[in-house]
Amino acid sequence: MPEPVAAATGVVEGKAPVVLPRSIVVGDLAKLLDVPVVDLIRALVGLSVMASINQTIDYETASLAAGELGIETVAEVEAAPAAEEAAGAEAAPIKPELWTEDDASKLRDRPPVVTVLGHVDHGKTSLLDAIRATNVTAREAGGITQHIGAYQIERDGRKVTFLDTPGHEAFTAMRARGAQVTDVAILVVAADDGVQPQTVEAISHVRAAGVPMVVALNKIDKPDANPDQVKAQLAEHNVVIEDYGGDVPLVPVSARTKQGIDDLVEVVLLVADVAELKANPDRPAIGRVIEAHLDARRGAVATVLVQTGTLERGDLVVAGTAYGRVRAMTDDRGKNVGRAEPSRPVEILGLPTPPEAGDVFRAVPDEKTARALVAQNERERAGGAAGERPATLDEMFAQVKEGKARELKIVLKADVQGSLEAIKGALTKLPQEEVGLQVIHDAVGDISESDLTLATASGAVVIGFNVKMDAPAKRVADATHVDVRLYKVIYEMLEDVEKALRGMLEPEMVESVLGHAEVRQLFTAGKTVIAGCMVLDGSVRRGARCRLIRGGDAAYETTIASLRRVKEDVREVSAGIECGIVLEGHNDVQVGDVIAAFVVQPKPR
Ligand code: GDP
Repeated sequence: MPEPVAAATGVVEGKAPVVLPRSIVVGDLAKLLDVPVVDLIRALVGLSVMASINQTIDYETASLAAGELGIETVAEVEAAPAAEEAAGAEAAPIKPELWTEDDASKLRDRPPVVTVLGHVDHGKTSLLDAIRATNVTAREAGGITQHIGAYQIERDGRKVTFLDTPGHEAFTAMRARGAQVTDVAILVVAADDGVQPQTVEAISHVRAAGVPMVVALNKIDKPDANPDQVKAQLAEHNVVIEDYGGDVPLVPVSARTKQGIDDLVEVVLLVADVAELKANPDRPAIGRVIEAHLDARRGAVATVLVQTGTLERGDLVVAGTAYGRVRAMTDDRGKNVGRAEPSRPVEILGLPTPPEAGDVFRAVPDEKTARALVAQNERERAGGAAGERPATLDEMFAQVKEGKARELKIVLKADVQGSLEAIKGALTKLPQEEVGLQVIHDAVGDISESDLTLATASGAVVIGFNVKMDAPAKRVADATHVDVRLYKVIYEMLEDVEKALRGMLEPEMVESVLGHAEVRQLFTAGKTVIAGCMVLDGSVRRGARCRLIRGGDAAYETTIASLRRVKEDVREVSAGIECGIVLEGHNDVQVGDVIAAFVVQPKPR
């Protein structure tokens, strides 16, 4: 096993810093730091990280939270694989300076990163194009804009980055991988069409991410635009705009006539000001891969968004399980750039293979660190450890029992609006002394992939009433192990949720077959019928539950009251051995019947 190597950076006098792995489950981190989980979660909330006890957070987050609690930390790096050492590679410990904490004095303002979400055809793409077009400087106008997955505009000397893959699938898929790159979300609603199903989904996704929202009321140029109706619809979904006394800004715009586009950008900047977005440009870059593909001519092409630090041409970078030197770096206008500061998206060449969207990328000091990081990422990928683990009702139960859980998040789907409202109403009435309950998204319809990604990203359980799960959703559910519970009876659902909330959820019970015995002969002792049996397979046990099978059908279910071998009472009889069985409360036994013995056990988690 490679030895973990801790870098002794910034040691507080007298007290050694705690060595942290690259990612860690919140509960484990609390143990490692020797602090109560609630304190840690509170520190995380203070950093706008809504992680539950069983979620995995990365080193940066863990370290920041530890800092909030006054605990010094350093990153653990595993040494390069032994094979490399044998091959003569230098065995010096890796110094992970790249993970050391930014001190507050080095933090500088950074531009906001904005995602555009909303219902199909409401004008997300048109709006992204309009924003870009109205903010191209005269010098650049006429130049060719490149679609690299993100672009940056400048307005009054201030920059704003837009991710130009619209839609909440991309947004949530990134979040599901633990990649929160969005600072402000623009919710596009067409003024002539109003709030539609995907608008509602988008609202839930943004809420779950805890990202501030600006509504762009688009297509205001249309004669049938009805802003008041849209505002009222939004209020119904708890998006209360400023005009109505709420805190969500709404800007009427037209992507077609360009009306209001400038105002929208201005409002986005105001919202960003409140968020006080900062990063340290003076350190090796860390960020996320926005998109990547293989180009026949140029090789692997990746668009990366620098989140902290500055990326420079020539830097050695690790992205997912690939590493290489940045050969060329271009911006969204196809211009060669030498460096990229925080929030700047750039397309880079030089990786041997395209990483995945959402992968972390980092500039590293040397090849050895690069290889160690790649090895770590490969291990994580193989172990499926990337991203956060979704919560399950059972886990919630366990956490409540230990007094650790805070909130049960639910994505709720039902067949009709009436049931949905009824269930929501009933859920909110459940006792929530120990644990809060939050329905983060609810809608009519089958459980979709989008519901699953939202649940994964938010650590929520998915509850369906009289609905099915479609095939793509099933695939996501299998891959992510999100807890999906389907019900046909409302009170059963409420009972399970209530039990989870109270920490009383009984584990799911499953039958496991012990064995079968065939009745060969009958004896009587007084009024009791004794079945002389041959155990066909497995074993039968005194006290076990059993089913009497006659002609292939189960006739009744009971318990094995007594079990004898020759004249002795025995606990268990195995296959190939004869025995006498008395069934609890039943004399109805015939030669040829089969007694199937089973036990009911809690389902292994
Ligand atoms: P998306 O699916 O949300 O990306 O929507 P698109 O940007 O593709 O726009 C859908 C349709 O609405 C297109 O035909 C656009 O031309 C049209 N559209 C978008 N914005 C406006 C607008 O402000 N006014 C009008 N009249 N049409 C618009």
